[in-house]
Amino acid sequence: MTHVKIEAPRMGEPWLLTPGPLSTSFAVKEAMLRDWGSWDTDFRAMTAEVRARLVAMLGPGGASYECVPMQGSGSYCVESMLGTLIPRDGKALVLANGAYGLRAARSLAVMGRAFRVLDKGDYLPPRGAEVAAILDADPAVTHVVAIHCETSSGILNPLAEIAEATAAAGRRLLIDSMSAFGAVPVPPSEIAFDALVSSSNKCIEGVPGFGFMLCRREVLEAAAGNAHSLSLDAHAQWAEMEGSGQWRYTPPTHVVAAFLQALREHEAEGGVAARGARYAANRDRLVRGMRELGFETLLADAWLSPIIATFFCPADPAFAFPDFYDRLKARGFVLYPGKLTVVESFRIGTIGRLDGSVIDAVLSAIGETLADMGVVSAAPPQSALDERARFLEEVKA
Ligand SMILES: *Cc1c(COP(=O)(O)O)cnc(C)c1O
Repeated sequence: MTHVKIEAPRMGEPWLLTPGPLSTSFAVKEAMLRDWGSWDTDFRAMTAEVRARLVAMLGPGGASYECVPMQGSGSYCVESMLGTLIPRDGKALVLANGAYGLRAARSLAVMGRAFRVLDKGDYLPPRGAEVAAILDADPAVTHVVAIHCETSSGILNPLAEIAEATAAAGRRLLIDSMSAFGAVPVPPSEIAFDALVSSSNKCIEGVPGFGFMLCRREVLEAAAGNAHSLSLDAHAQWAEMEGSGQWRYTPPTHVVAAFLQALREHEAEGGVAARGARYAANRDRLVRGMRELGFETLLADAWLSPIIATFFCPADPAFAFPDFYDRLKARGFVLYPGKLTVVESFRIGTIGRLDGSVIDAVLSAIGETLADMGVVSAAPPQSALDERARFLEEVKA
């Protein structure tokens, strides 16, 4: 693994301990200082390089996949994948355990595709056996939609067993790997899937502006005419790129230039394995330090992703998240609010241009902030611990 030099933000901005947009390198930002013509051969070559690098990032078995970039944030790309690959008479099974699974289901509702949802609540993982049972009982389901890392809790869902159950039932798997791709391997030689989507501003450490789909070539070829939308038609975008080398409509040129720099830095760091190892080391250091301060994680160690971790808010009446957030921002660190419905929580991202020294600095800042606020104990309320006990019970079952 190559050691990555992490530089402090040069514009006085805080570190973003968030799941994207996130802290990027200076070189990534600098790549946006020149203008590019969308039709120009230089820019077409950049698009081609981005696409080739992303296919290569899939690893073993990736040669039969095509990359289709799509303008917009990650959700546009999820919608593009669902609408392009699920035929109008198809039916999806959406595996939800948080906000992003529910958003995928909402997209399907808006575009008028048939679907059903396995809703596991805030953070319980959908298991392979459950998927197998639903597919067995509902032969109309053609596609399973899975969230790789559900960023709302930070849980890393068991993709391998979901893929196995889906393939065994002869159905097709579509993956929202938005916050995992580039740091968590998804080798097609081991995990059978038709397509995954991710975006420019997550583990590859670019800036926001587009997403991309990696899709099996024969699946994409068969998807002409499926799409519910003109601008989100991934087949049409792909056909245009294959033909002219151009995006169909105005591309986010500066974002693509920054992303290409981010891809080169990803390779220089040592690829997916090294990126994942840095994030996992960040996560381990963060979780250890937060526990030393008296905080508790929502998830047991086995389900913690290297992307983002959820912590319960302390029960101490002197603690209030908005105040805690403002004080940490003043010290140079931006955290992320929680998304759980039952208990109060907050999240700390461990992706982006961060290393152990940044994690140590945020831990010191958190310790000092608790003291400033007069928080004596960071222990969560009993209700949070009961909630977690329920989680551990169900996960074991
Ligand atoms: C970030 C993210 C998305 C996309 O969100 P946008 O706000 O549209 O970029 C989708 N799914 C997951 C799991 C994510 O983490």
